[in-house]
Amino acid sequence: MRCVPVRPHRNIAVFIPHMGCPHRCVFCDQHSISGSGGFDESRVPEQIETALQTIPTGTDVEIAYFGGSFTGIDRGLMLRLLELAAGYVRAGRVSGIRLSTRPDLIDSEVLGILRQYPVRAVELGLQSMDDRVLEASRRGHTAAQGEDACRAVTGAGFALVGQMMIGLPCSTPESERRTAERICRLGACAARIYPTVVFRGTPLAGMMRSGVYRPLTTGEAVWRSADVLEILKAHGVACLRIGLCASESLTSPEEALAGANHPALGELVWGELYYRRLRAMLGEDELLGQKIELILPAREISKWVGQRRRNLDRLRLESGTEVRRVAGDWNASEPRAIPWKAY
Ligand code: SF4
Repeated sequence: MRCVPVRPHRNIAVFIPHMGCPHRCVFCDQHSISGSGGFDESRVPEQIETALQTIPTGTDVEIAYFGGSFTGIDRGLMLRLLELAAGYVRAGRVSGIRLSTRPDLIDSEVLGILRQYPVRAVELGLQSMDDRVLEASRRGHTAAQGEDACRAVTGAGFALVGQMMIGLPCSTPESERRTAERICRLGACAARIYPTVVFRGTPLAGMMRSGVYRPLTTGEAVWRSADVLEILKAHGVACLRIGLCASESLTSPEEALAGANHPALGELVWGELYYRRLRAMLGEDELLGQKIELILPAREISKWVGQRRRNLDRLRLESGTEVRRVAGDWNASEPRAIPWKAY
């Protein structure tokens, strides 16, 4: 099942904060995350119409029910929201529906209902495939339930998107890499990586205060997420997002107390990934430590160079290699280096 459309794609995200969720994961403060204190069903059509006006024609659009546990909300409300979105699909105004939910809220009955609607993708909040981490995070489900739900979603013909977290209680870089591997092997066609943010008022904030939990630094969030991103890329699994999005009111230090709350986290992680690839390309090459010219895939020059030339500066500091000139090659998919010659 295709989950990354070839056309430019936009989701019209409708956040349904915490509704229907029987749990309280230690990190979860859905009110902060969605930026909306409650949910008003009557305003959803207006929200969709407003979003549609901003989307260029030719864009592949999905109505995305995000934020809570969609398949666990009041059944009548769930059906009304599906019917509403299906109306937009029938009218040719959007292409499909996607939704996010928990693994333990997926079963054959629910999947049977979803199949009656133009649902394309089911995003599963797996968070970890390590039972210790799931228990310490009070997720209320096991890794085995996560695996079963992944198989059920793909078996029912939906595109599977796996959502996982970095830096949860008891989590290690190794368990995060294993989780990413499992998500790929279970047939996900895309994933989202969410490094943990500590929100005010959550159990995790209490754990942090008592010293039971140490939040991620930005640097840790970047390299641990980059490890996961490398695994996704190796399996051809698209990464749809790294970190919570700007609309998720994260910059307020009153709400987000600690953890991976950098506004450009995704860019930093991609920068780290490209730096590693640059460094691997140079290896122990004779050009290491020399003045060089870099020939980079033209479509991705900014990613290779990094934010404010960060990757080139880092290359100089860590290996003494000085990039004197950068050129783009439209036919190249990998970078190459040649000795610098002053012209
Ligand atoms: S399952 Fe989702 S909505 Fe429910 S408490 Fe956990 S993170 Fe929050």
